[in-house]
Amino acid sequence: PFELTGKTVFVAGHKGMVGAALVRRLARENVELLTVGRNEVDLRDQAAVFGWFAKKRPQAVFLAAAKVGGIVANNTLRGEFLYDNLVIAANVIQAAHTNATQKLMFLGSSCIYPRLAPQPLREDSMLTGPLEPTNEPYAIAKIAGIKMVEAYRSQYGSDFINVMPTNLYGPGDNYHPEYSHVVAALIRRFHEAKVSGASNVVVWGTGTPRREFLYVDDLADACIHLMKSYSSDELVNIGTGEDITIAEFARVVAAAVGYTGGISFNPSRPDGTPRKLLDVSRLAKLGWRASTSLKDGIGLAYQAYLRDSK
Ligand code: GDP
Repeated sequence: PFELTGKTVFVAGHKGMVGAALVRRLARENVELLTVGRNEVDLRDQAAVFGWFAKKRPQAVFLAAAKVGGIVANNTLRGEFLYDNLVIAANVIQAAHTNATQKLMFLGSSCIYPRLAPQPLREDSMLTGPLEPTNEPYAIAKIAGIKMVEAYRSQYGSDFINVMPTNLYGPGDNYHPEYSHVVAALIRRFHEAKVSGASNVVVWGTGTPRREFLYVDDLADACIHLMKSYSSDELVNIGTGEDITIAEFARVVAAAVGYTGGISFNPSRPDGTPRKLLDVSRLAKLGWRASTSLKDGIGLAYQAYLRDSK
């Protein structure tokens, strides 16, 4: 086990949805939290990252910084998604290594698994087949980060670990109409339709893909649990173990928002991977399960949207 208490803990990406949830969760631990603004240290800038680490020498690191977005952002900004994520991972992991960080957690993603891998997705299916093309650059960068963690464990004996979150949502999400993920997109679209009295909301794709959604504060809780208790080069999936079609999901969001009009689908927008459900049996064996239901979580996310969009 790794003792977090009394440690200096760096959350890389603390302004992002995941990093902010980690900061909220770490407030309940007795740690000295370290964060740094993007204007001070751009994590893509190797010299800036190495300089900051040499000065602060964090004892524990959560690597939650990443360039993220929905299916269109991933498929459009392909160069940025590959470069930014590759370089952030390389800079932070190497800096942690050279500055004697005792423990590091790297956050991967469920999209690193092959597009047609057997469902639910087991950790050992990584690199067994071709990736979903719409997010291949992001996935390749994340796989490189995962392999760096494995390589540093193997070559240097570093206590660095990899976790694989499923699709996340919650406070601090990005509501960009084109580039957001589906949860934020539908919260916003259904809310705006309710406010304007529109009688129809269009959902992208066919409505048949299935997705698993985890509330971000549950993810943060799982990360703290694993940071304290887990040390292995095996990945650990973090999800709920349950998925839902996009069509059903749209009805959950409509109900949470209080939108009562119609819903239609636009199959000319991309569906992405048909299904992406994580096998969470390793996580369950390690003593953790999600506690926020989808209905409650979407309600909380909608409240956060209303606060943030004021
Ligand atoms: P993905 O899990 O990487 O595919 O990321 P997304 O969250 O962007 O999309 C998940 C699923 O929701 C895909 O099948 C999309 O086609 C579908 N979807 C439906 N409506 C929307 C929308 O308005 N925005 C996004 N991003 N996805 C949508």
